[in-house]
Amino acid sequence: MMNPTHLTAVAERCFNITQSYLSIDTGSLMNSKIIEETQAAINITRELLIGNIFQRWDPFTGQISFSYNGGKDCQVLLIIYLSCLWEFFMAGIKDSQYHPKYHGLPIERLPTVYIDQKDTFRTLQDFLEGNINHYSLSLYESRKDCDIPMADAFSIFLDSHPETKAIVIGVRHTDPFGEALQAIQPTDSSWPQFIRLQPLLHWTLANIWSFLLYSGEEMCGLYSLGFTSLGSVSATVANPYLEWNDEDSQRLQNKFKWEIANNYHKDGKLHISHINEEDLSILTSHDGTLTKFYPGWYLINDSYERAGRFPKKA
Ligand code: FAD
Ligand code: MG
Repeated sequence: MMNPTHLTAVAERCFNITQSYLSIDTGSLMNSKIIEETQAAINITRELLIGNIFQRWDPFTGQISFSYNGGKDCQVLLIIYLSCLWEFFMAGIKDSQYHPKYHGLPIERLPTVYIDQKDTFRTLQDFLEGNINHYSLSLYESRKDCDIPMADAFSIFLDSHPETKAIVIGVRHTDPFGEALQAIQPTDSSWPQFIRLQPLLHWTLANIWSFLLYSGEEMCGLYSLGFTSLGSVSATVANPYLEWNDEDSQRLQNKFKWEIANNYHKDGKLHISHINEEDLSILTSHDGTLTKFYPGWYLINDSYERAGRFPKKA
């Protein structure tokens, strides 16, 4: 019998958040469609993880690693992944003679991998650093000083972590080239060989905002400034569809007022990480004034999610 680890408490918290979201009674709500769709989306992800993925790759041995950069999609997936880890573990010990509180997950930290690309927002980096303890991550960080393609960075990761058979990715069908992806599939031939686990493909942008705002978990502060997708500093601006002007100040509405007001902590507050001062300068236009934007979650149209990102150079 082991002492419960920090990861045990983290996984239980994520399980409680997820259960709380799943038990929202939408019957009495005005705007219930997004929440109902998100509850269905969670259940599909949960079934994939517990019913399929964890049966094939042992999540407690390092066979599975989680690709994580602090962005909203992988954060949502991380919370649900940890929730499922808790459920999977509890199912495994249900016949044990000891009370569940004396058991702990057999790993101290969750194996995660971050490819530290040049030119990352400081706010995102600071948020990620805080997540290491908040989610009990064992975070592999690639070397920052070598500017190499992501595939090569994963190759180097695998050299030092040969036990890795599969990597979880928070990609969605609406991402570029995401349409034809499958929940479980090998990498392309130009990538190092491992299995891609993509249990978030079917989630929409509205599903992501709804769950993340309800969770009451701190999210990266850049989203509150009108960012909806985070690439490199030099190739990302706040989403132009969210620009605020006095003339049509009612143009966009917050569809997630209920989630914020009734969040998991029941404190009615937004939980946003600290914004680094350097990053604020990006919102300053050429005439030196600070341009105002609605928060990222005012945008729920998936086809405009990346409107603030410049296309990658060929
Ligand atoms: P985002 O929404 O920013 O990222 C999507 C997801 O990618 C995130 O949720 C996160 O899980 C992961 N991710 C993004 N950036 C990082 C980072 N810096 N460090 C760690 N994880 C990150 N493309 C192919 O064409 N063929 C492949 O076989 C292939 N295999 C991949 C395997 C892995 C493990 C990963 C992470 C990516 C792979 N990709 C592959 C690339 C992938 O399809 C996306 O293009 C890439 O993740 C960049 O995402 P984005 O910026 O477009 O979107
Ligand atoms: Mg994304």
